[in-house]
Amino acid sequence: MGVTVTAYIAIMSASGVFNLYLAIFSYLRRHYYKRIGQIFIIYTGTVTIYCFAAAFGLLSTTLEQVKIWTVIQYIGIAFAPLLGLLFILRYFGMEKAFKRTSLLLVVPAVTVAMVATNDFHHLHYRSLEFHPVLGAPYIEQVIGPWYIVHGMFIFACMFIALCLTLFQLRSAALIYRKQIIILALGQCIPILLAFLYLIGLSPAGFDSVPLYLWLTSILYFWAITSSSMFTLVPVAKDVIFQRIADAVIVLDDSKRLIEFNQAAKQLFTDIHKNMYGQDFYAFWKGLTDTDFSYDLSKAPLTVEMTQSLRQKNYVFHLRISNLSISQKNSGVLLIFTDITEMKKLQNQLEYFAYYDELTNIFNRRAFFKYTKDAFREAEKQFTVILFDIDYFKYVNDTYGHHSGDLILSGLSRLIQEITPAHSIFARYGGEEFVLALPGSSVEEGLLLAEMIRRKVEKHLFPTEDGSITITISMGAAGADLPDGECTLEELLNRADKALYAAKESGRNQVQADKDVLT
Ligand code: GH3
Ligand code: MG
Ligand code: MG
Repeated sequence: MGVTVTAYIAIMSASGVFNLYLAIFSYLRRHYYKRIGQIFIIYTGTVTIYCFAAAFGLLSTTLEQVKIWTVIQYIGIAFAPLLGLLFILRYFGMEKAFKRTSLLLVVPAVTVAMVATNDFHHLHYRSLEFHPVLGAPYIEQVIGPWYIVHGMFIFACMFIALCLTLFQLRSAALIYRKQIIILALGQCIPILLAFLYLIGLSPAGFDSVPLYLWLTSILYFWAITSSSMFTLVPVAKDVIFQRIADAVIVLDDSKRLIEFNQAAKQLFTDIHKNMYGQDFYAFWKGLTDTDFSYDLSKAPLTVEMTQSLRQKNYVFHLRISNLSISQKNSGVLLIFTDITEMKKLQNQLEYFAYYDELTNIFNRRAFFKYTKDAFREAEKQFTVILFDIDYFKYVNDTYGHHSGDLILSGLSRLIQEITPAHSIFARYGGEEFVLALPGSSVEEGLLLAEMIRRKVEKHLFPTEDGSITITISMGAAGADLPDGECTLEELLNRADKALYAAKESGRNQVQADKDVLT
């Protein structure tokens, strides 16, 4: 046996030893990385079988021995690329694809069966002989159809795994990049070697891939130990980061952009990875056309900020917090929670706490809130007018409830237009309204009431069956302040009595509280 062959055997065995070490190393630490540990152990196990069987194959002196080692070698080489792909799928958290791809394990199983039974059908190797010139242990083989299937299959597995890795590299957070690059490099080596072997550029007579697999194992070992490849549970964390519904931006200790998630990309559409390293304040100005008005060094800080983005006004609940990236590095984390819709709803709720939903004028609660203050502060006279639509039940019954609603809102608008600025106008209940006139005497109130009554009487209100007219009855009551011993409730009671009198006297009229007039 020549020196070269001995060297090949030694190197292949070294590759085997490295992979075995990796398998054992991962087995012993399997509890630290449960998700991907198992598949990685099986993967490195098959690569180990491949390397050792290739080395032992070179020790063969008879064709029988070569065939036995070839079958064993295929237990490794047929399964390893697919297991490598499965490992990558799991590593990147693609559970569905992992499950589906597992079904393909049938292909390497068939390949091993084909190689083991090749003498009966010659579908994998048409012929397998010692090399006519170089002699044992070098082999000359003529490949059969299944060999091509197997070759394409393992290439596809390796290639897809590499593409997936490179694809993930694009979107992975910075801290995971190192290990993903190592993974990609580790995958490139066997692909390149297998390709060279297939196009006939590797040493004649044997598969040289196992010669270099120690390189891949060293890269993997480095990834596991130095960049804590498995213990970081890298992609799981990355997936969570990317899937957070809130926009997240990460800055380093010099307030430069180092990371952002998918939600941030959706919100700030102009944000791009080539902005990494930009000063945050400059970056924000470029992104939003406005200055960032909070001091990042004041973190932790929680603020509610309004921000216009692409002609839309947003309200954010912004949390700025300090972040410990590693032992040496710290940073700043900005989490933007979009509360625009919630804020709108809150404003709406606040609005309807004081405004009547149908007529959009003050409701009874708002009337008391504002009138009580105005009544307390009033120094001179104070007048209130209560009014009620005449025969409104009839209007509802005749034209429908919806028409009734239209009249209520139309009437509110009409009156709102003619009430003085300092007055307080509200829907008192049902089809009853109230108007408070701080500083006005009852006589002034009566004049205004009469004007309103006439205006209403003449106004055409649209209904579902054409326009109609309505009338209102009104009752006014006034008080002299601050001498008069009168409360707002008493004043309203007197106005209510006057309104009742107006109804009793035939409706469509204004009545004043008798106590004052007499
Ligand atoms: P009167 O001249 O004595 O005031 O007769 P009226 O029919 O107006 O008096 P009544 O109090 O018997 O009827 C008031 C009606 O107002 C009954 C109710 O269905 C109607 N109403 C109260 N609130 C609303 C509302 O929000 N929308 C509509 N469409 N109708 C309302
Ligand atoms: Mg009524
Ligand atoms: Mg009425």
